[in-house]
Amino acid sequence: MEKTLLIIKPCAVQRGLIGQIITRLENRGLKLVAMKMAQLDKEILAAHYSHLVNKPFYPIIEASMMASPVILTAWEGLQAVSVVREMAGTTDGKKAAPGTLRGDFCMSHQENIVHTSDSLETAEQELARFFKPEDFFDYPSPLLNYLYASDEL
Ligand code: ADP
Repeated sequence: MEKTLLIIKPCAVQRGLIGQIITRLENRGLKLVAMKMAQLDKEILAAHYSHLVNKPFYPIIEASMMASPVILTAWEGLQAVSVVREMAGTTDGKKAAPGTLRGDFCMSHQENIVHTSDSLETAEQELARFFKPEDFFDYPSPLLNYLYASDEL
């Protein structure tokens, strides 16, 4: 099973959307395997957004991501990386499809509710950046045979 990272950004923490975001992933059948609240700092953000650190709008990203604590979550499931990314929707909330987290909860390119890993390789790097091995829980999933067909497992 794949694991992926979803960060509930400060804008969503401030707006009281933590529960609704987590509920959507739970309802989909994804399994929460790690979660913590954290105040991100400049160093970890520069590593996380290394592909954007030289962009003129990077100071806005940095300020936005440090405005309050975030909720770091790790989710497990079949093809979890692409499933969670599609649930987030496209980056700009104004263009995100209805039914996605961004399409339902935001109107902004920056204040766009969540971060999600964009590939399996990135997910592994990002999970290792934000979590220690002991932060992950491997606990029984008695409903697994109702979430997936036997030939999918
Ligand atoms: P995504 O979060 O959809 O994976 P990117 O990796 O391209 O998108 O960008 C990371 C984050 O940087 C976005 O979620 C958004 O918060 C911010 N960002 C990206 N492009 C812009 C932009 N042109 N203006 C303002 N913020 C941006």
